Amino acid sequence: MIKFENVNKWFGNYQALVDVNESVDKGDVVVVCGPSGSGKSTMIRTLNRLEPIHSGRIAIDGQDIHAHGLDVNTFRSRIGFVFQQFNLFPHLTALDNCTLAPIHLRGLSKAHAREQALSLLDRVGLAHKANAHPTELSGGQQQRVAIARALAMEPPLMLFDEPTSALDPEMVGEVLTVMKALARDGMTMVVVTHEMGFARDVADRVLFMDAGKVLERGEPHEFFNAPQHPRAQQFLSDIR
Ligand code: ADP
Ligand code: MG
Repeated sequence: MIKFENVNKWFGNYQALVDVNESVDKGDVVVVCGPSGSGKSTMIRTLNRLEPIHSGRIAIDGQDIHAHGLDVNTFRSRIGFVFQQFNLFPHLTALDNCTLAPIHLRGLSKAHAREQALSLLDRVGLAHKANAHPTELSGGQQQRVAIARALAMEPPLMLFDEPTSALDPEMVGEVLTVMKALARDGMTMVVVTHEMGFARDVADRVLFMDAGKVLERGEPHEFFNAPQHPRAQQFLSDIR
């Protein structure tokens, strides 16, 4: 579903992605980990063209995402993106946060969008908060609304960039529970996270990045039990 071929990217003189060659199959859950500044966010942001690349190729479903004539807005609407900061629209209720894009970008009727949003809010355990504004919700609840909002576009692919890093520890679990359910339902997911319990439970593969390179990739049990690269060994001992 996703293919990176020899992808390189610079910020000025700094090479943020170095010869990235990875692929993700439909239905896979891939966890990306590595030290701060290693290029994790840059890598997943290239996937929906939030960051341009300087050489190489990225294809999604066989289509070069930088192809001439590709409509960026339509393309982006097919990829759900959940950030560390929840970025909900503060003046809208949870429900309206979830209906806005489907009404305006997918052309759903208000009634249909509302019905779909209520079912998604129910899926993330927040049907009872449909009419609450973001300030009336905890961080964990806001992030669950953000996930529901992303799902409302029915994307075949979901990207998460440290979705639990801004949360108080007691709220991490509720967000991971929602993400695990999504993974088990077969969603294709690329997740930047240091939540190793999540990786062990649902990841098909873990990528370890350092200084713009993917240094190691493996199944979670291989990666956690017997990391090969010294940098990966160091990283795992630092976060444990
Ligand atoms: P990570 O998500 O793994 O912490 P990032 O992908 O955010 O790392 O950043 C990788 C490197 O690229 C870092 O050295 C960072 O300082 C640099 N970088 C990221 N975004 C920019 C930018 N917009 N301009 C310049 N340098 C950037
Ligand atoms: Mg980052």
